[in-house]
Amino acid sequence: MRQAIVAANWKMNGSKAQVAELLSGFKSGIQNKAAQVVVFSPAVFLADVQAQLQGSTIAWGGQNAHTADSGAYTGETSLGMLKEFGCTYVLVGHSERRTLFGEDDALVAAKVKAALDAGVTPMLCIGETLEQREAGVTGDVCRRQLQAVLDVVGVDGFRQLVVAYEPVWAIGTGKTASPQQAQDVHAELREFLAKADANMAEKIQILYGGSVKAASAAELFAMPDIDGGLVGGASLLVEEFVGICNAAA
Ligand code: PEP
Repeated sequence: MRQAIVAANWKMNGSKAQVAELLSGFKSGIQNKAAQVVVFSPAVFLADVQAQLQGSTIAWGGQNAHTADSGAYTGETSLGMLKEFGCTYVLVGHSERRTLFGEDDALVAAKVKAALDAGVTPMLCIGETLEQREAGVTGDVCRRQLQAVLDVVGVDGFRQLVVAYEPVWAIGTGKTASPQQAQDVHAELREFLAKADANMAEKIQILYGGSVKAASAAELFAMPDIDGGLVGGASLLVEEFVGICNAAA
């Protein structure tokens, strides 16, 4: 039995006031004790997030981290810094990082390894573009993205990370993959990982991301291979995100 995870990705949004309002709403509204809730906050708000979530059941993390411990990397954040602010998760390979910031499979794999080495759980994002889906290569793209990480961190690494399948065409577009479309890919990914290790594949949490809303969450989360969600836009609305968290089994 895999524990569900519902994660909020605030991206580059929010203010100190909004962070306080969102977190207070999450803390009072989320009734679901079965799912692990995670908040991915902009780095500058992590001190606020830590102060407000410490002692609650909600975990938090950074949206990105550098592979190096420290050094001349202007504008970057290290895993040690994230840990100092209580982060237990880090997003790696989000499609916005891959497309807007040129992160390729090799860098994503290096970041996953650095996170594992630092004892921070990576949430590894993968997914195909609309062009790739229409060309019928969704499975190939996702397998390539997973394999690149598998080559570097191996099965043992995969025992300690979370995968988020996020079709790029569904992120921030209002277009959600249908529960069956998402389930088909999740099942395919689990089958692929089972070739490396059946036990790891059975246990690994694979989340769905892409315009998840409170209204669509229950149906998605009811699918056998969908273990929760990674939520962007709807995580900036208390009622929506609380509804999504409470829909996770
Ligand atoms: C995301 O940013 O990971 C995401 C899934 O965004 P949205 O829910 O807005 O599509």
